[in-house]
Amino acid sequence: MCVFCKIVSGEIPSVKVYEDEGFLAFMDIGPVNKGHVLVIPKKHAETFVDLTEEEAAELFKRVNRIAKAVKLGLGADGLNIIINVGKASGQEVFHVHTHIIPRFENDGMKFGWRKLSYNDNEMEEYAERIRKAITPNDD
Ligand code: 5GP
Ligand code: ZN
Repeated sequence: MCVFCKIVSGEIPSVKVYEDEGFLAFMDIGPVNKGHVLVIPKKHAETFVDLTEEEAAELFKRVNRIAKAVKLGLGADGLNIIINVGKASGQEVFHVHTHIIPRFENDGMKFGWRKLSYNDNEMEEYAERIRKAITPNDD
């Protein structure tokens, strides 16, 4: 059983902020900022792209609700809402989870964004590869 399934089952303790039949939100043990929450489906799936469109929509209903609570409850100036998908993205726990990270003006946190540029027709070529791969909702 994965570590988040163990949290769902109660085998590993966690500090919960929200729970319903299918979803759980609990405090991240190593917060980027204090108040960092993880929202998960109770049913095990490895990554976000393993969810159906319907399951993803249900997850995001909870993410929206908890995000408002983190912002209001902690008086955060902003939030980062992040899902890592796969090892290459930095995912370490292979049970789908959405990070909700409270952000404060001048909190000293900087994500390592960079800004590349495209040459010639490259942007259109990338867009076309993505467009061609979009499948209809087959939930
Ligand atoms: P990832 O890199 O997979 O997107 O993020 C995994 C997150 O899970 C990390 O932020 C890490 O601190 C958190 N985490 C890992 N193990 C545990 C645990 O046993 N309990 C809790 N509450 N959080 C955990
Ligand atoms: Zn799991």
